[in-house]
Amino acid sequence: MNKKVAVLRCEEYCCDTILEKMREAWSLTHEAQVAGGKDNFPDVRNKRVLLKPNVLQDAPPDKAISTHPEFLRAAIRLMKELGAAEIIAGDSPLFQKPGFSGRICGLGDVCIEEGIEWYDFSSGTTIINCPEGKMVNQFMVSDIVNRIDMIISLPKLKTHQLMLFTGAIKNQFGLIPGMSKTPYHMLFPAQKNFAQMLVDLHITLNPVYAFMDGIISMEGPGPANGIPIKSGLILASSNLLALDITASRLIGYDPDRIPVNRIALDSGRWLKSSSETEICGMKFDEARIHQFNKIKLTGSRIQLLDFLTPKIIKSLQTRLSPKPVFRSGKCTQCGECVRICPAEALEIADTAINIDYDKCIRCFCCHEACPFDAIAIKRSWNKKGLIP
Ligand code: SF4
Ligand code: SF4
Repeated sequence: MNKKVAVLRCEEYCCDTILEKMREAWSLTHEAQVAGGKDNFPDVRNKRVLLKPNVLQDAPPDKAISTHPEFLRAAIRLMKELGAAEIIAGDSPLFQKPGFSGRICGLGDVCIEEGIEWYDFSSGTTIINCPEGKMVNQFMVSDIVNRIDMIISLPKLKTHQLMLFTGAIKNQFGLIPGMSKTPYHMLFPAQKNFAQMLVDLHITLNPVYAFMDGIISMEGPGPANGIPIKSGLILASSNLLALDITASRLIGYDPDRIPVNRIALDSGRWLKSSSETEICGMKFDEARIHQFNKIKLTGSRIQLLDFLTPKIIKSLQTRLSPKPVFRSGKCTQCGECVRICPAEALEIADTAINIDYDKCIRCFCCHEACPFDAIAIKRSWNKKGLIP
């Protein structure tokens, strides 16, 4: 498997500049794969290609919640240059109703302007088998998978409250349409199990390449309510695990402690060790993003959770773990968090939202969903779940 990750400087969301960098990244990783004696580099010619941006919410591009529309435009143009027979882009955010067209985030309009189809993943579903899955053997995903030959992933470089970091492998979770994602949070509340489910899905969908939008990334309490930060990078690879390892290392994590990286490494399918990853284009020290505000979580907590029984995990989660707390001054009682909560732990009260911490599985979907930044993740709270 290819171990090279192209890391290139790109300071602005200008389609021509991004396209030039994508071309360079494509050839750098292609050359590396050929030089390494591997001939399985993705061949886009005459293929039907799905471009999968990360669209967590239909939010304006400057919030850095989703892959930037100019990033998608550049990827569309590259696929045209490379001779793709058909290009489709799409996603299905958890919190959007069916019919999502990507207008506010700008991705839908880019597709119209570039003459390609935007596909709402909630339009139809199909079942795919995952015989090699360790946690899941069947997924219900968008039926777009029946119309395409390959997936090219376009993740955004962001922090993530539950998984610490969200990158190329996690981006495929969007192929599970809309609210159909929530049962996975209920079934796999521990990080290790959720990560294994994501890796199972990744094996099944087998995206062939990824370009990561790290031009403006998100630090702090991501993936929805973090802070946009200019990091000026594009990462690309045909090995999505190598890309995620590189990205998480660039923002200051030990990549082995990111749950999805760890589980994917343990499978031995893409890499045996994070140290095998190689960078081309820039040197690591030139690309390193200093003082990136990461989600803090000790390794001991991750490892401990993996060996405890569900009952003890639940008890520890209730007492010790970070939890959603509601900023009553900001909450408009729109009910979005109540609607998406997979554990049915929330209800609208007289002046705010009541939370039942015994039911809450700490998936932080409510934090991602809240359009008014009215939910924080804290370790201390009062009985009503409100920040004092
Ligand atoms: S916390 Fe946010 S999502 Fe929930 S009701 Fe209040 S404003 Fe809406
Ligand atoms: S209250 Fe929030 S964090 Fe808890 S289960 Fe519901 S959506 Fe997840």
